[in-house]
Amino acid sequence: MQQPSSLAFRDNAKAALDDEGLQRALAMAKGGFQNKRQMAATNLPEFDSLRDAAKALKDHTLAHLDLYLERFEQEATRQGAVVHWARDDAEARAIILNICREAGAKAVTKSKSMVSEEIGLNEALETANIQPIETDLGEHIIQLAGEKPSHIIAPAFHVTKDKVSDLFAEHHQRERVDEPEALLGEARSYLREKYFQADVGITGANFLIAESGSIVLVTNEGNAELTQGLPKVHIALTGIEKVIPTLDDAFLMLRILARSATGQEFSTYTTLLTGPKRAHDQDGPEAFHIVLLDNGRSAMLGTHFQDMLRCIRCGACMNHCPVYLATGGHAYGWVYPGPMGAVLTPNFIGIDQAHHLPNASTFCGRCEEVCPMRIPMPKMMRHWREDQFRKRLTPPTARYGLAIWAFFAKRPRLYHLTARAVMATLGFLGRAQGRFRWLPLAGGWTKSRDMPAPTGTTFQAAWQKQRERQ
Ligand code: SF4
Repeated sequence: MQQPSSLAFRDNAKAALDDEGLQRALAMAKGGFQNKRQMAATNLPEFDSLRDAAKALKDHTLAHLDLYLERFEQEATRQGAVVHWARDDAEARAIILNICREAGAKAVTKSKSMVSEEIGLNEALETANIQPIETDLGEHIIQLAGEKPSHIIAPAFHVTKDKVSDLFAEHHQRERVDEPEALLGEARSYLREKYFQADVGITGANFLIAESGSIVLVTNEGNAELTQGLPKVHIALTGIEKVIPTLDDAFLMLRILARSATGQEFSTYTTLLTGPKRAHDQDGPEAFHIVLLDNGRSAMLGTHFQDMLRCIRCGACMNHCPVYLATGGHAYGWVYPGPMGAVLTPNFIGIDQAHHLPNASTFCGRCEEVCPMRIPMPKMMRHWREDQFRKRLTPPTARYGLAIWAFFAKRPRLYHLTARAVMATLGFLGRAQGRFRWLPLAGGWTKSRDMPAPTGTTFQAAWQKQRERQ
């Protein structure tokens, strides 16, 4: 498993805020994702009803997950694939290494798979003297940089074009080029050779179709198709929650996936794979292995976090999250960043290892608003915050602060009286400047911005006055 550094979120976030290159890259990427999704949603009048249907479909599937997974296994096996079940990351790594060793693999090509990041597959392959070669352009860039993905669909989201030129010049050992088309062409020709050297191709799977035992792969570069089709052995590694009942259901999901992710109506390549190469097929792998990973997913069923298993990994929540867009993905310290990561990561590595993440939210609700699967992430982050509080993982100052707040909140008269007194005092003290540069108990807030002076009255009083006027 990838070693988490989520406990360092605060320091990571601070470093990210001070990183000018990262801030430039985030600012450039931000508007693009948001505007494209908005346009795609506006151009499809039934977009919201498709989201409702997709949510209902996934809820139904999760309620019968065992049934659909067994059906998938039966059908995939009938089609000639070999289905492997991995309870955790160690089992998944062992299964994949075993298949690679049996195939005598020296090099494997890989298309983008966050699950392979989750199980730390590249490190395991390298330790076994098998060279992993990332074929997705973004993954290729960060593999050269020795980094991890910072976004689930755009892994090199944080890397500027100049840095890509430097990396290519250094690692491809070719003349430095700067133009995006030239960089693309260079990556294409460099990677093309690698496909022919690979003994095994490893992909993820966007969906598993129970009725036919097929997997669905979605890319914009066509690299997953070359990864699965050219080597003799194909391994598809995916989470158990990816199963859906029928092919029709896959089309429902595909209609909202690309629109939510990149604003496209459909991704450039959508590939349906059923079993390995048959006698009459001209190409395709001779062996097709499907590794179904649990790694904490089944434990989420029936809990506050079950809804998170509806996630189709589109990335929309992070593209609209003010925290993610300020810090980038690496600050989160593990595989899944942004709001979906703030919910998933504590499920996978434990809240004691990731307790800052559910607090990395302004609770503005944008993540839930844009999520195609209508996943209530703020509600789930609140559950994690409660859990932290119970386990005493929150700092003592926050716990005492909450205890004091709870004391007043349970006594509404006292609460209103005290709030009125505090607001009147702050209003009086801040009247001359109109703002505070420092406030006791709010040092974190005032360290990087001023606090506007209140008007001297409480929100409830102002609200009551307005209602009376109306
Ligand atoms: S939580 Fe929703 S918005 Fe975020 S990646 Fe998953 S499906 Fe997309």
